[in-house]
Amino acid sequence: IYGLRRDVRHDELKLHVQPKIDLAVHRVCGAEALVRWDHPVLGWLPPNEFIPFAEQSGNITLITTWALSTAVRECRLWLEEGLRIPVSVNLSSRDLQDERLPVFVTELLRDHDLSPDFLTLEITEQALVRDFARATSVLQCLRNLGVRISIDDFGTGYSSLAQLRNLPVDELKIDRSFVLQLPESRPDAAIVRASVDLAHDLGLEVVAEGVENLACMRWLMELGCERAQGFLFSRPMATENFVAWVRQFSSAQFELST
Ligand code: C2E
Ligand code: MG
Ligand code: MG
Repeated sequence: IYGLRRDVRHDELKLHVQPKIDLAVHRVCGAEALVRWDHPVLGWLPPNEFIPFAEQSGNITLITTWALSTAVRECRLWLEEGLRIPVSVNLSSRDLQDERLPVFVTELLRDHDLSPDFLTLEITEQALVRDFARATSVLQCLRNLGVRISIDDFGTGYSSLAQLRNLPVDELKIDRSFVLQLPESRPDAAIVRASVDLAHDLGLEVVAEGVENLACMRWLMELGCERAQGFLFSRPMATENFVAWVRQFSSAQFELST
């Protein structure tokens, strides 16, 4: 595979989106943008197979700016279809070292006439390990724009709870490795319960990712976890299918309430 290593070109990228569901009102409350690469030889590659490489080669800025532009454009199109659905974009640790990022985001939102609260930026705890001072200053700039900040894969990183308390964040996403085995796994249940309580006590919204079945969803609802994302609702889909999917989800009597 490494013989085929080369940099990604933006015309080879494709954006997929996966809905986030508000469990209490059974409504689509967001969509996460997830990038895929149509490699000329290897075919479709998932992000875990090229993002780490792009981070090393310095190519990640191209991917991030492309993902941000495409996601913001989609979000604007959804609004024009009458759907008020915020979009989430993943940042890598390199992005948080780049002081030009807040400028790029400002101009992007202005160009698309999109209110900043329609954009959430997902960062992992790992992203803060590298040059913590610079990363938190870039993060603070982004938050000052009115963009929402989410901690992704929560529970898998090294950030201390003391750090979390001081970070400018709005949302916490519980890593799917703790969610997939719910409600059967007792250790996972304990971790998720503690994370949801912590998030609420800190005034953060919580999203559980990796919700694959109804039993898991019901358990989360009883716990007071208000948002969920996972294959139960939908796998990530091509952006061109999203609006139709949302309309169908809203009209279907999905067995959520039972
Ligand atoms: P993530 O941000 O934690 O994204 C969620 C991942 O969980 C996605 O994998 C999604 O397909 C998967 N997932 C969602 N629901 C379920 C479920 O019910 N069960 C299971 N087993 N998996 C589920 P994906 O699309 O392969 O993305 C993997 C990671 O790649 C993402 O994890 C994110 O960290 C990174 N990534 C994706 N797009 C970008 C991007 O544009 N920029 C950067 N820097 N990273 C990205
Ligand atoms: Mg994410
Ligand atoms: Mg995650």
